[in-house]
Amino acid sequence: MEIYNLQEDLVEVILDEKLAERSDICKCDQCQVDMMVYALNRLPSRYVSKKRGETFSRLELADTQGRTSVLAAVVSAIKVVSESPRH
Ligand SMILES: [Zn+2]
Repeated sequence: MEIYNLQEDLVEVILDEKLAERSDICKCDQCQVDMMVYALNRLPSRYVSKKRGETFSRLELADTQGRTSVLAAVVSAIKVVSESPRH
């Protein structure tokens, strides 16, 4: 078993969804990583145990409690990073 921060996957999935809706902002690797870091630093970690190599499906992630707070953090991360990108 390993310990895993479920929040990382949830932020990544929601960030992907939100970026897909936006054609006006940069989506380079630097900006996307900065957005993930920004959002994750503003959210509580949510650790789960899992078997090595096991992944969580998008559906499981979508049903996860706390999606609303992740969505808010991702939206503000996109705003902040796109206003002053580091790339
Ligand atoms: Zn960029």
